[in-house]
Amino acid sequence: MIARIISIGTELTLGQCVDTNAPWIAQQLAGVGIACGGHVTVPDDRHAIRDAIKSSVRDAKWVVITGGLGPTPDDLTREALADALDSALHLDRASLDRIEAFFRDRNRTMPRANECQAMIPNGAVPIENTCGTAPGIRARLDAADVYLLPGVPSEMKAMFERDVRPSLHSTGDQAVIRQHVLHTFGLSEADLGQKLADLMTRGRNPTVGTSAADLVITLRINGHGATPDAADGLIETDVTEIRRRLGRHVFGDGSDTLAHAVGLLLGDQGETVAVAESCTAGLLAKRLTDVAGASAYFLEGMVVYANASKQRMLDVPGELIEAHGAVSKEVAESMAVNCRRISGARYALSATGIAGPAGGSPAKPVGTVYLGLASPESVQVKELRLGATLTREQVRDRTVKIALNMLRLELLRRKE
Ligand code: ATP
Repeated sequence: MIARIISIGTELTLGQCVDTNAPWIAQQLAGVGIACGGHVTVPDDRHAIRDAIKSSVRDAKWVVITGGLGPTPDDLTREALADALDSALHLDRASLDRIEAFFRDRNRTMPRANECQAMIPNGAVPIENTCGTAPGIRARLDAADVYLLPGVPSEMKAMFERDVRPSLHSTGDQAVIRQHVLHTFGLSEADLGQKLADLMTRGRNPTVGTSAADLVITLRINGHGATPDAADGLIETDVTEIRRRLGRHVFGDGSDTLAHAVGLLLGDQGETVAVAESCTAGLLAKRLTDVAGASAYFLEGMVVYANASKQRMLDVPGELIEAHGAVSKEVAESMAVNCRRISGARYALSATGIAGPAGGSPAKPVGTVYLGLASPESVQVKELRLGATLTREQVRDRTVKIALNMLRLELLRRKE
């Protein structure tokens, strides 16, 4: 038994507005054990909407539709639903009263155009909208329960939570779907695919899938079971096995970030960190301090963009910059070592590089970055060639992630 989701709006099909309703609804459905068989997006076109509804009810037990319930002539979802139901629309007095009250409460008179929002197909029932004017509609079509909700995300969510979710009941021996998310760094998707091939085979329960976003590869483990405990048990076995196979490449679960993982290690070990940033200009400090409680281990960040600043604030010798260039292994090392000394932190990270789009050369193209990590007993420098085709934001983002991962691995080594 599956659900289908239909998102309606020409602004969506033209790409002018990103559909956030469908993913949110799919997650809510999964939370009550209902798998979503697919999403479709259709423009504000009466025939296209009617056809999408008719095709969705063929194999779905639940169809959730959002959008096109406004008061303007291009809002046609009500009419299209009536077409699909092969019925006519009637004016629902209670809905009209509520829309009029909505305006009255705001000291306004209801424009005549809003009256159409109280039109409901015969045989369907309205779903009250307490945040806006357009009521939703619930109808039965073939073997499916069809829910039509407004497109405005806040209105849609309130109505889904209050009226739709309580009426959804999944049955069957695989009724519950639970998910666990693991984040990895340092392995490619292909490497992961090789290491986890047997866990990723089609038709297996749990399913294990990957998605990559700017160097972080996320694994989603979805377990189906008759009860939450059965689904959780299956997931737990896989999560333990995946962690065993991938070792320190796994840095967190759920909403964890690399900065979060670093923060936990620094906190556990009672250590402190400071950063000296050129090309990332404060982004590394920002990411570290995005984590609540960072004041326990983050001491300071120095943004040393100009060569003169590197010399004045960090004592980087002018001759060193002259001899090797500001973007060099030597300068990254000096920045890290001096940042550690000046700040008094136990660890210091540094970054100097060419974020682009200008400033690259054949020897040091855009995306060349040197990272330094000064630790109590040693200093490491890493040269990155991130690729000249990346945007400035990507170069900075990746630099920060790789720097955080360098510190994370160093702290893990210390723990052993
Ligand atoms: P209302 O009458 O309350 O405006 P509506 O059903 O007519 O509701 P739409 O006109 O379809 O809503 O959309 C209103 C706005 O809601 C859109 O301009 C867009 O900003 C947002 N919206 C609509 N659909 C989606 C969606 N699927 N994902 C994210 N935002 C959406």
